[in-house]
Amino acid sequence: MSLQERYLALKEEVATAARASGRRAEKIHVVLVSKYGTPEQIRELIELGHRHFGEGRTQQLEQRSAMIREWLVRRQESGVSDVAIDPDAIRWHMVGHLQRNKVKKTVEYSRLIHGVDSLRLAEEVQLVAAKQDRPVELLLQVNTSGEKQKHGVAPPAVRHLVDQIDTMVNVSVRGLMCMAENTQDQSKLRGAFERCYELFEEIQRLGGGGEDFDILSMGMSNDFKAAIECGSNCIRVGSAVFQDAGRASEEDAASK
Ligand SMILES: *Cc1c(COP(=O)(O)O)cnc(C)c1O
Repeated sequence: MSLQERYLALKEEVATAARASGRRAEKIHVVLVSKYGTPEQIRELIELGHRHFGEGRTQQLEQRSAMIREWLVRRQESGVSDVAIDPDAIRWHMVGHLQRNKVKKTVEYSRLIHGVDSLRLAEEVQLVAAKQDRPVELLLQVNTSGEKQKHGVAPPAVRHLVDQIDTMVNVSVRGLMCMAENTQDQSKLRGAFERCYELFEEIQRLGGGGEDFDILSMGMSNDFKAAIECGSNCIRVGSAVFQDAGRASEEDAASK
């Protein structure tokens, strides 16, 4: 399958899963995680109409968002294409775990930070955001799979952390993010997703995070259907779309 075919197949599967949970496909944000992809692939997806992209590392986020912006500006200036695409329309997501020493660049280059999991990190984000005098939106990463090696706030601590971040001037919590265990065991997968959904709903119901608390980021290439069926409204998909190029070159690198 070509990149375009994989992309269209993904959109179709998202629509089917959305319908199965009584929602419309437009209600599900699809963040294409381009870490396995090439710049050409990102450009092609933009031309196909996609706008939300994610990276797992700050350096890559910085390089790629800058490169894509430059490409769009040049494209606009040269007038070669009939449809101008506003460089500001491309939204970059930081999906990886946020590192303290990378907060400044991450805030600068991303629209939404998915992987915040401590008060200390949120405070650092607030500090940087205040200095740059801008609002920053983030998601709290929750460890609902219970695996020790995973990042994420323990579920019982999430509500309190949302309340604490609510008092910060520049930072707002837009919702929660979780990663399920890498397993084919559907009951384990769904268990983790359902716990995160319940937490998300409870915080919404109690008014935590305010009106903007509305994003539940869960689901990757192997488990996005289950995630959507469990209430996710934001999936982060990489290999299912970017596949071959990245995988192949990673394997090359590994075998050298
Ligand atoms: C890489 C990554 C993804 C995408 O993973 P795929 O399995 O390639 O779809 C999603 N979320 C996070 C946090 C990631 O690091």
